[in-house]
Amino acid sequence: MPFHAPVEDFRFLLEKVIGFSEVTATARHAEMTPDVTDAILTEAGRMCDEILAPLNRAGDLHPARLENGVVRTSPGYAEGYRAIAEGGWVGMAAGEAHGGMGLPMALVTCVNEMMGGACLALQLNPLMTQAEIEALEAHASADLQALYLPKLISGEWCGTMNLTEPQAGSDVGALRTRAEPDGEGTYRITGQKIYITWADNDFSDNVVHMVLARLPDAVPGTKGISLFLVPKYIPDAEGRPGEANSLRVVSLEHKMGIHGSPTAVMEYDGAKGWLVGEPHGGMAAMFTMMNTARLGVGSQAVGVAEAATQAALAYAQERKQGRAGGTGTIVEHADVRAMLARMRAETFAARAITLACAKAIDLGREGDAAARARAALLTPIAKTFGTETGINTADLGIQVHGGMGFIEETGAAQFLRDARITAIYEGTNGIQAMDLVGRKMMDGGEAAQALIDEIETVAEAARAEIPDLAEPVWQAAETMREATEWLVAQPMAERFSGAMPYLRAFARLLGAHYHLRAAQAGDGKRRRLAAFYIQRMLPEQAAHIAALRAGAEPVMALDAGDLAP
Ligand SMILES: Cc1cc2nc3c(=O)[nH]c(=O)nc-3n(C[C@H](O)[C@H](O)[C@H](O)COP(=O)(O)OP(=O)(O)OC[C@H]3O[C@@H](n4cnc5c(N)ncnc54)[C@H](O)[C@@H]3O)c2cc1C
Repeated sequence: MPFHAPVEDFRFLLEKVIGFSEVTATARHAEMTPDVTDAILTEAGRMCDEILAPLNRAGDLHPARLENGVVRTSPGYAEGYRAIAEGGWVGMAAGEAHGGMGLPMALVTCVNEMMGGACLALQLNPLMTQAEIEALEAHASADLQALYLPKLISGEWCGTMNLTEPQAGSDVGALRTRAEPDGEGTYRITGQKIYITWADNDFSDNVVHMVLARLPDAVPGTKGISLFLVPKYIPDAEGRPGEANSLRVVSLEHKMGIHGSPTAVMEYDGAKGWLVGEPHGGMAAMFTMMNTARLGVGSQAVGVAEAATQAALAYAQERKQGRAGGTGTIVEHADVRAMLARMRAETFAARAITLACAKAIDLGREGDAAARARAALLTPIAKTFGTETGINTADLGIQVHGGMGFIEETGAAQFLRDARITAIYEGTNGIQAMDLVGRKMMDGGEAAQALIDEIETVAEAARAEIPDLAEPVWQAAETMREATEWLVAQPMAERFSGAMPYLRAFARLLGAHYHLRAAQAGDGKRRRLAAFYIQRMLPEQAAHIAALRAGAEPVMALDAGDLAP
């Protein structure tokens, strides 16, 4: 089943739902006229349909492998990567000073989603490099920027993020990798990192690792972490990769999915590294990378949801089974129709949330403090809801296929296997939800309430025209307002036990809000999809809120002994 990048949906969302015109009204993005935006989406979509999507299965069947210390990538990946790099998509978000396209995050998010939907395992490579570019732009010295940014932006070199160690996963502060000053203004990095995505490849001239490590005088925990740039080959002043650095890929993991993406154990043995940002300021610099990557992971999973939905719909329109009526295919059965509708409606909702988050990032960069707070609030929701949508939609896609969904050749199973990791890396979804109810509510819920105000205003305005859709959204906003007031009055233990239900309830409301806007601005098809979401899916918010309000007691009263058989 060929993949079709959902260019029309992006156009509609940008123009009619999320208010992209506020971004193009800024001086920085004034040249992003509808024609230019259209050309970018169309061109990226074409590459995804014609070049990347055909590689998806090859990566699954022929995983990246380690040969004599060098990673050999899946068939066709080198050509696919070249298309991404030559199209300028690696550096699409980067500033023009070093050769980037300077696209707004809202457009970058569309392109990342399309590439993720076409071939998630390969798209992870430019996603890591994009995040590294952003961190270097924000925190590296002018010399490092001049040497590394042009190569990373052009895609000649690739980037990685090295946080995780065996004892330091979610608890990044437990990492032990050491960085010793070598008296030449640089550092010697020693330690082992695990699960490093695209730690090596056979198609770029260099791989530039961003490594978190501790200086000798570091305090324990996250406050004692610094960030270092550690290239595979040390470049000369002209940027020609030279001497090999003291680092190596020890092994590659055998994984449930994303087989085309090499996931490596890395050994740094006194490797030469350059400090990025302040000593002990590594987490601040890393957060620049991680926030971009979090939104990127949310949107790559929405891409998988899109691909799974397209495949399931195509299958359902061909498969004949039972007295289906109409076309005689299973799409006529109410249960199958409900599954497909859920897949489509959820994909739209999650896509809208990622784009709204991206738009807030764009406006935040213009110095708009409220937009910055909005972006901070939406990032964990975009990551968690986007990835749950990828997983749940891929799972439904298998169900629509029946037995064939369990048979690998349809590709339905691969969507689920590939999407599953997205809820785990870049901070597990549990950690994201804790971030939402903890750090992101340090403002007493102000950013959340401002968003709820907006949702109510839209619902009130829609009441006269579509009361059956507007009223439930307004009610759900009120429910969320009360839940938010309740949440911020709770001690942290209560908040954490209800973190996931709160996040899911908020996402349901946001999804309903964007569907309502789509119903107002779109045709009958948009309105029918909105009605499905608001009438069949929004009511799930009530269950999440009930779980939230039950508090910590029913969760923590069960000790590990109670859970044993
Ligand atoms: C395929 C793949 C690619 C990856 N790519 C990279 C990469 O490029 N770079 C990199 O640095 N890392 C990478 N990772 C690592 C990834 O980010 C971690 O696996 C992830 O952060 C979780 O850490 P962990 O595996 O140690 O799980 P743990 O931290 O042990 O978590 C186990 C469970 O406990 C929960 N948990 C842990 N701490 C808390 C807490 N304080 N409160 C509540 N719940 C908690 C988690 O949510 C999770 O459900 C990758 C991992 C995989 C599998």
